Amino acid sequence: MGLVTISKRLQTIARYCPKGARVADIGSDHALLASYLLVEEIASYVIAGELNEGPYQAARKQIDALPRARDRASVRKGDGLAVLAPGEADVVCIAGMGGQLIVSILEAGIDKLEGVQRLILQPNVGEELVRRWFLQNGWQLVAESILQEDGIIYEILVATPGEAALPYEGQQRSREELLRLGPFLWAEKQPLLGEKWQREKEKWTKVLSSLERSDKPEAAERMQQIQKEIEWIDEVIACLHMDKP
Ligand code: SAM
Repeated sequence: MGLVTISKRLQTIARYCPKGARVADIGSDHALLASYLLVEEIASYVIAGELNEGPYQAARKQIDALPRARDRASVRKGDGLAVLAPGEADVVCIAGMGGQLIVSILEAGIDKLEGVQRLILQPNVGEELVRRWFLQNGWQLVAESILQEDGIIYEILVATPGEAALPYEGQQRSREELLRLGPFLWAEKQPLLGEKWQREKEKWTKVLSSLERSDKPEAAERMQQIQKEIEWIDEVIACLHMDKP
């Protein structure tokens, strides 16, 4: 069986897929994750969904080259979860898109999630939106990963149907803060989490200094908000340095 080489980010996602699961990868691009799950005999069946023609063709080509692809894989063109029939997948992966787009895909296809046992989501930005969606829709966050690849920091969020509020209970930080920080990432306090928030602080510091040169009347108010945000991040970073497990 041929080898499929995938990024560390996709490997981390694959590690969260239970053995034998039927996995749908939505927005699969070249279907590398789906191929890896088959070749490594992690998934028993994969569905690769793609909205756009170019990546859809690339996914078909990739999957067709695998042995016994016809029995074990299906490549489908369509928007989000619309490519799925209810009950067809045990696990849904959506990776490499913004949190807002991921949430809109989940929202638009919520009826297709009936019977799905696990969501593995990797938002490029807007992780908070995804955690909030879990909380509001009965999905319990059960694991989080943070990793760095090619200088980019990624977060992977895993949820199962269950007690959505549970990960936010009995913690020192408020629910609102934990939706931003990630309850598991906060408990683990890996150095990479500090690096992520350091970068966030640098981003806001740049915005602040460009606003300082602005003479728009609304600039002062915006600067105050950003100043508050930077203070919160400073406190988060100080805490991460102090409470290393
Ligand atoms: N999931 C792969 C990964 O993480 O490496 C590919 C990520 S790629 C940046 C995002 C892919 O999602 C693109 O191929 C794009 O065409 C597809 N896409 C965007 N919106 C989509 C939607 N609503 N439904 C299905 N696919 C979508």
